[in-house]
Amino acid sequence: MKALVLNAQWDPRPDYPLSDWERETGKAISGYQVWRYPTLEVKEVETPTIKPDQVLIKVKACGVCGSDIHFYETDEDGYILYPGLTRFPTTTGHEFSGQVVEVGSAVQDLKVGDMVTAEEMIWCGYCTPCRNGFPNHCANLEEIGFTIPGAFAEYIAVGAKYCWKLNALLDRYGDEEKVYEAGALCEPSSVAYNTIFVRAGGFRPGAYVAVYGVGPIGLAAIAECKAAGAAKIIAFEVSAPRLELARKMGADYAFNPKEVTPHEVVMELTEGQGADLHVEAAGVPPLTIPEMEQSLAINAKIAVVGRAAQRVNMYLEMLQVRRSQVFGSQGHSGHAIFPSVIRLMASGLLDMTPIITSRYNLDGVVEAIIKSGDRTDGKIMVKP
Ligand SMILES: [Zn+2]
Ligand SMILES: [Zn+2]
Repeated sequence: MKALVLNAQWDPRPDYPLSDWERETGKAISGYQVWRYPTLEVKEVETPTIKPDQVLIKVKACGVCGSDIHFYETDEDGYILYPGLTRFPTTTGHEFSGQVVEVGSAVQDLKVGDMVTAEEMIWCGYCTPCRNGFPNHCANLEEIGFTIPGAFAEYIAVGAKYCWKLNALLDRYGDEEKVYEAGALCEPSSVAYNTIFVRAGGFRPGAYVAVYGVGPIGLAAIAECKAAGAAKIIAFEVSAPRLELARKMGADYAFNPKEVTPHEVVMELTEGQGADLHVEAAGVPPLTIPEMEQSLAINAKIAVVGRAAQRVNMYLEMLQVRRSQVFGSQGHSGHAIFPSVIRLMASGLLDMTPIITSRYNLDGVVEAIIKSGDRTDGKIMVKP
């Protein structure tokens, strides 16, 4: 089958203390410290064979994620920019949907023909964090498209326990093509859902929300807050096309933070009360957190989902005076997240498909990834 293969050289930076675990597993905990000179190529690879507990999925749609760009972009020394867990060579792509074409002998609740999406996090279910109910913090984590082959390919083999049926979306969208596109958006939507409703505990209808950073996660955050009854949603984003998308997805106000002072705008639009929920989806907390801390409502929440390997100056007094709290979030698994997102989509309360701004076939995937580096698109969809 055809697949996108990402390769890079294992060349740990001289000052990076490589652990025994990294040496044994070939997995880098901090990708940007280890992998150098990445290459991307669409080529012929072996079609995966399934284990008894897996299904084979014919990929129908796979979104390009910010991390896919960070695998390809390098610093001046040639190291990839992606900071997280990685093992190469592999096929990237982890926001996908497709049709089940083969079912392992031990699989009970999926059949050939089912439309599915899948979690990207292959949590083990046996480690202590998993057994304690925290699969997003699994100690034996594998990640589709990061440490094991992903979905910029014609087929992918996935454990049935990570798959979620999309059949309920057919009534809403009418045609399968659209269902698969919506299905491929479940993963980023689930990341936003985990941040806002699971980690931060959500908000009461009528709350004021400020979203910083309007990439796909920020857009999902806006749409989900709208669905959950936010009275006003204020978005901040530097890219003009993305500001337009923010409005389209439900933001009542959208500003370029270089043209306004965000905390002043939030205080003004909330009648001096501040925002009840602040979402950090920009990945620049040194810039966003100081704004958030000056526009906290009493009992406000700051939910952090954007990643940044930086420390942040924070005046904790503000959390005391404003009775506020900060929540860190990673992942999308467990806690009824995927099925809730699919229900929201099936009900019509959440439609993420307007964020798709370009479509490519598998032969165009390298071009799609390079295009996404402009950071002006909503979501770029690859359809093998
Ligand atoms: Zn992603
Ligand atoms: Zn685990």
